[in-house]
Amino acid sequence: MDIHEYQAKKILSDFGINVPRGGIAYSPENAEYKARDIGGSRWVVKAQVHSGARGKAGGIILCNDALEVAQATDKLLGKKLVTNQTGPAGKIINRVYIEEATEIDKEIYLGLVFDRGSECIMVVASTAGGMSVEEISKEKPETIIRSKIEVAVGMQGFQAREIAFNLGIETDLISRTAEVIIGCYRAFSELDATMVEINPLVITKDKHVLALDCKMSFDNNALFRRNEVSELRDKSQENPSEVYASDRGLNYVGLDGNIGNIINGAGLAMASMDMIKLAGGEPANFLDVGGGATPEKIVKAFKLISSDEKVKVILVNIFAGINRCDWVAEGIVQALEKIDINMPLVIRLAGTNVEEGNKILKESKINYIQASTLEDAANKAVEALKQLEGK
Ligand code: GDP
Ligand code: MN
Repeated sequence: MDIHEYQAKKILSDFGINVPRGGIAYSPENAEYKARDIGGSRWVVKAQVHSGARGKAGGIILCNDALEVAQATDKLLGKKLVTNQTGPAGKIINRVYIEEATEIDKEIYLGLVFDRGSECIMVVASTAGGMSVEEISKEKPETIIRSKIEVAVGMQGFQAREIAFNLGIETDLISRTAEVIIGCYRAFSELDATMVEINPLVITKDKHVLALDCKMSFDNNALFRRNEVSELRDKSQENPSEVYASDRGLNYVGLDGNIGNIINGAGLAMASMDMIKLAGGEPANFLDVGGGATPEKIVKAFKLISSDEKVKVILVNIFAGINRCDWVAEGIVQALEKIDINMPLVIRLAGTNVEEGNKILKESKINYIQASTLEDAANKAVEALKQLEGK
């Protein structure tokens, strides 16, 4: 799960890291008031969306008076910001963050991520702050400093000081910078983060170490024990279909094609995607209803798939191992009594009680195309699509 910059900065500040003074604004009038309240004479208006690279996309606006703050807010609020990380759909700007502007002397990149290979937390730092880590590794790889932290031992003071020293930080600011690095490590490990990135971490003209921007992501599997983090979720920044699905225990990923899929098990789902492609079609989604595939889940899966306007044909592919095809068939029949599907529907059942399952489907009123194997199902779905398109 991702959070907003202002939320991440609040966390940093709780871990003893200095951030510029700022406040969230919901309207231009409110933004102007906030700017005066924060004080100073220059401000930065920052779009709060779950994406980096906002600066290049026009989402970060430097303002020289409070009126400009109101204008910048007016320009950003309600707009979709398209960055090189959001995809063409962009992300809606529902809040802006107003901050006092900082006089920058030096910009540093500081990131913490998992290094699965070594089972450590990796600290990555560079003097080329402000650029994305991808750009740094392409254009200035020689500036990159890496330091592995053993999780069982935790980060040691000398490791943090060594990173600060290697960044060429002046002597007076070494311990302050080391404190920032340790603060990031503590936030990372104590909150079950998967990524903490401060870019840029700046040394100001008046010799303070400040986090000017921050991104954090958290381990979804640990959210149950991190109330203070899970409360920060902003669903407006996520794909609505994926939110609907994950709230209901379905694994859903939206794709660009037009064959909708309802499948039990991630492995079978992947194999089905491959078979659809092999048959010359394009999947509209990856939907794994899970091993259980209860009638309730199947109803929800049909609702989700049929609400997607891209979907022209639905393919149901269920392999019943622990489950039973007759139960699944009952579920499908029940689902289709509740929702109208006005498009071709291909159903392939396999595994335990397959004869009973197919019998239930055949004797029901539902209109569908029966398939026997995975290949047969993919071919029939693509065939149905071609007929629709009149080819
Ligand atoms: P990002 O583009 O989403 O990474 O957003 P950032 O918050 O990192 O802002 C982009 C860039 O704007 C930073 O790398 C800084 O160079 C610049 N910037 C942001 N805030 C300030 C500020 O208060 N003063 C100055 N001078 N530059 C700033
Ligand atoms: Mn940044």
